[in-house]
Order: sequence, then structure tokens, then C-alpha cells
Amino acid sequence: MSEKADFLVVGLGAMGSATLYQLARRGAKVIGLDRFSPPHTLGSSHGETRITRQAVGEGRDYVPFVMNSQRVWRELEAETGEHLFNACGVLVMAPGVGEVSHHGKPDFVIRSIDAARAFGIKHEVLNGKDVTGRFPQFLGLQGNEKVYYEPGGGYVMPERCVHAQLTRAKALGAAIRTNVEVGSIAQTGTSVRVETTAGTFEAGQVVVSAGAWNAHLLGAPFDRLLTVNRQLLHWFELEDTSAYRADAPVFIWMHGATDVDYFYGFPPPSGDRRLKVATEQYETRTTADTINRVVDPAESAKMYRQHVQGRMAGVTPRVAQAAACLYTVTPDRGFIIDRHPEQDSVFVISACSGHGFKHSAGIGNAVAEKVAEGRSSVDLSAFSVSRF
Ligand SMILES: Cc1cc2nc3c(=O)[nH]c(=O)nc-3n(C[C@H](O)[C@H](O)[C@H](O)COP(=O)(O)OP(=O)(O)OC[C@H]3O[C@@H](n4cnc5c(N)ncnc54)[C@H](O)[C@@H]3O)c2cc1C
Repeated sequence: MSEKADFLVVGLGAMGSATLYQLARRGAKVIGLDRFSPPHTLGSSHGETRITRQAVGEGRDYVPFVMNSQRVWRELEAETGEHLFNACGVLVMAPGVGEVSHHGKPDFVIRSIDAARAFGIKHEVLNGKDVTGRFPQFLGLQGNEKVYYEPGGGYVMPERCVHAQLTRAKALGAAIRTNVEVGSIAQTGTSVRVETTAGTFEAGQVVVSAGAWNAHLLGAPFDRLLTVNRQLLHWFELEDTSAYRADAPVFIWMHGATDVDYFYGFPPPSGDRRLKVATEQYETRTTADTINRVVDPAESAKMYRQHVQGRMAGVTPRVAQAAACLYTVTPDRGFIIDRHPEQDSVFVISACSGHGFKHSAGIGNAVAEKVAEGRSSVDLSAFSVSRF
């Protein structure tokens, strides 16, 4: 006997919890399945904070997602009483001379400014000297840096967002099965069978949002397109928080010529004496099942030396906390949000490439529209599988 629903959502992290919630809001009979019990620390959606900015330098096609996401976070805050989105502002800084690429895109600051102008997003164009005058936590700026400042940007709390969407989905009638691992997904005619460690499930359509496990679960062509990279988050102890004032923004700071000469960070919440920072790497591949989740103190020491030291005020090399996390990356560092090329009742979301969280609530809404109503209010053509 199989359990039946209109829709199944496989994987309930950032993308899956959002999709489940949006389908439940539409009154659909939907079941969500996850191999663990989200929110958890084994995928891509942990570590307390994620940057959000509306003027998305990765491309204008993303802007509707982040706009919708910020609206959904605010709605969820009103419904659940949880604080999810801190609009503390965001700074994107790049050297004054030369081009620097970020997330695979050249001249990221200029692209951000252009997107802000095109969509009427409130912003300021600054230079390094302005930043030094306004935000004393940043040290050693030359003065001529190109800087984009978005006062309405900031950060969202990923574990809280996942939890809030799952809670609301359940209240709206969705069934949630945790600690249930999906082994295979097969479409026959108009129905899709999903074999799991808790038996067989059947639905008219299945949304697969298994994050770093997508390639393994889906096979070709996704196993060829998706690579997984281990990324690290570090929290360094602050001995003096006085430079981090109430208006302290989130920041993305490109300080050298290559796309790894960069780090990003979050202002410490009031009363917290930890500075959370991270960089990115795309060289070393891993898998969701074999990743080394232990951060070696030498890895944090390298992060401090290469990026933090001399650039941030009041920070010490003492590591308060560190975590490993997973990026699932496509060849052009964009997203895949599309039907499976061979099983048209299976819809795939692989929206990471290191910048997916800010878009997740909006992606969940767009995918729910697409599978439940046949068309999405957001143009998804830039996220097709066929572009590869
Ligand atoms: C260190 C780091 C920093 C980041 N910073 C930012 C940022 O500042 N801003 C931003 O916008 N984005 C950021 N991102 C990207 C963003 O966090 C990801 O795009 C997003 O979390 C991806 O969500 P997901 O739903 O695809 O994956 P996940 O949240 O990992 O969810 C996948 C789920 O699928 C489940 N699953 C897997 N296989 C199965 C199976 N066989 N059966 C059942 N369930 C299964 C897993 O248990 C998991 O719960 C960052 C990512 C990392 C790692």
C-alpha cells in the first residue's frame, strides 16, 4: 500500500520547506519528506545567518525571488512571532582599480548598482573613504574602493526560516515525515512513485529539493552538472565591540584581484561578542555523505590571517565556534529550477551555488505556482536545465 498525495516535496531544507509551505497555503494535499529532521546542520542551511540583498549582482533574473522572499519573511514573522529578517543594511566593497569577479560575475559592485537603479531599490554609491567615516569596524581601506550600500538589505536566520515554514505548512494541513530517506523517484504515466525507508509514496507531481544530495538522488544529467564544495564558517571572539554600532551592516568585501580574495561577515547581534566571517572555495570537491564536518583550528587560523587580521576592529584570533557547510554549484554558478528533462512530473530545485538562501522563500512560491497552477509569476527560463 502506498501513501498518496497531490504533491510530494523531497528534502525540507531552505527550498523544500518554502515549497511545502506555499503548496499548503494553496490548500493542496502535500507530503514533505526529509532524511533528517530539519532544520539541521548536515546540509546547506545552518550557521545562524545568511546575507540578503535586493540588488542581486548575480543577475536581474534573481531580483523577483529576493523581493518576494523578503515579503514572505515579514508575513511569516507576523504569523509566527519569530524574528527572521534583520534589515541592518549590506555593504558590497571591491578594489577601486581593476575588475574583480564574484560568484562568477565580473564587476559585481557595478552590477549591483545597475540592478538597484533598474528596480528602484534604495541604495547609496560610496567609496572606501565614506565607509571608513561611517562604519569604524572596517580597517585598512584605501579610500578609492567601489562600494554599494543597500540600507534595506541585511541577514535572515536560516534555521528559524526553515522551522517557521515547516510549522506553518503543518498548521495548514501538510504532512511532514522526517527521518525518511528517499531512495528512488520514478514516473509512470501521470503518477510518480517514490520509494523510501518508510515505504512507497505516490503523487501526481514531485518536487525534489534535496540540496547537496540532488545529484546522487536524481542521477543523469544532474550528477554531471552539480558539484559539491565544502565551505567553512568561523566565529572569532571580539575583545571590543564598540566599533560595531547599531547601524553596523552585513558586508561582502573583495580586497584583492581574484574571486577568492574576499570574505563576508555579519555584525554581532547586541550582547554577542562573536564576529561571524567566511570566505569561499571552489577547488576541492566533496559529497554530502563524505564531507569532513570537523573544522581544523589551522583552517580558522588561515582564515584569520588571510582575511580578518588588520581589516576588522576589535577581533581576536580566538575561535568561538566553527562549522562546515555545503555549496552545490552548477557550471555557471546559477540555479536549476526546472522540470526533470525525462520525467515531466518531477520538478527539480537546485538553488545554491552559494547564494540561494535569500531567494528561497520566493523560489518556493514560484515553484508552488508552477506545479499547482501551471505557470509561475516569475520567469523561470534563466534557470532551465537545457541551458547547459
Ligand atoms: C556556508 C554557506 C554560506 C552561505 N551563505 C549564503 C548567504 O549569505 N546568502 C544566501 O543567499 N545564500 C547563502 N548560502 C546558500 C544557501 O544557504 C543555500 O542556497 C540553501 O541553503 C540551499 O538550500 P537547499 O534547500 O537546496 O538545501 P538544504 O537546506 O541542505 O536542504 C536539503 C534537504 O534535503 C534533505 N535530503 C537530502 N537527500 C534526501 C533524501 N534522499 N531523502 C529525503 N531527504 C533528503 C536533506 O536532509 C536536507 O534537509 C550559503 C551556503 C553555505 C553552505
